[in-house]
Amino acid sequence: KIAYVNGSFVPHSEAKVSVFDRGFLFADGIYEVAAVLDGKLIDSASHLARLERSVGEIKLKLPESVARIEEIQKELVRRNDLVNGMVYLEVTRGADKGRDFAFPKADVKSTLVMFTSEKDIINAPSARTGINVITVPDIRWTRRDIKSVALLAQVLAKQAAAEAGAGEAWMIEDGKVTEGGSSSAFIVTRDDVIVTRQNGNEILPGCTRKAVVKLAEERQLRIEERAFTVEEALAAKEAFITSASVFVQGVVAVDGKAIGNGKVGPMTDRLREIYVDFAKATAV
Ligand code: PLP
Repeated sequence: KIAYVNGSFVPHSEAKVSVFDRGFLFADGIYEVAAVLDGKLIDSASHLARLERSVGEIKLKLPESVARIEEIQKELVRRNDLVNGMVYLEVTRGADKGRDFAFPKADVKSTLVMFTSEKDIINAPSARTGINVITVPDIRWTRRDIKSVALLAQVLAKQAAAEAGAGEAWMIEDGKVTEGGSSSAFIVTRDDVIVTRQNGNEILPGCTRKAVVKLAEERQLRIEERAFTVEEALAAKEAFITSASVFVQGVVAVDGKAIGNGKVGPMTDRLREIYVDFAKATAV
């Protein structure tokens, strides 16, 4: 398999960055993950717009235009014969000579790496069965709207989920669900209102979340962007998560307690179908 590192396409075994890279030393970097279906990028414009916003918020300069970045992603998908999966992209503030916290001089070029992984998102078994989630305290910093590579809190949250046999961890702050370790969180209330937390500094503005909210609104489905508690989730008819790597994925239990009848619900199935249609229709 081939990775992209600072202008070159190289085998994974040769894909390397410096030990002085600020991504490694300080988590001074931004990442993006876009899905690939039938060899095409899903919702690419949305991911690239978020990339531009994230790098802007940390005053990091992209080494290539986003148009060129998309071309490189497509080239990497081609070189890896990737049909279904994901493209991972990371940009860091580059490798300076030492370990100064302040930004390096302007001549230090940012690091850009990409690699792909295979995943059949459409036919993943968990799409039918749903997943269990656990809840953990949200111990992250206060700029979660920036897609930073500083993911230690999510590593610990998702490890706790894995140890509990759960597929995701919902992070809790002030009694409310913020989001999943790597996904946006939704519930469907008893009266069929779709609820997901409003965007702000407390969560990452999910690209899949954004598309699902828009698609639901276009179909006159009732949707409220507000925070919800675990108690509300437990009393809900359905729950689900969204992300580039699962699309729309049913949640059938929270902390071992069944949601609704303990099966993936009809609204979740419908939104998944609607999203997959959107994804295929807009793929590039
Ligand atoms: N929230 C967090 C913390 C994430 O890490 C992710 C994706 O990795 C998401 C939400 C979902 O975002 P997207 O739909 O853009 O993949």
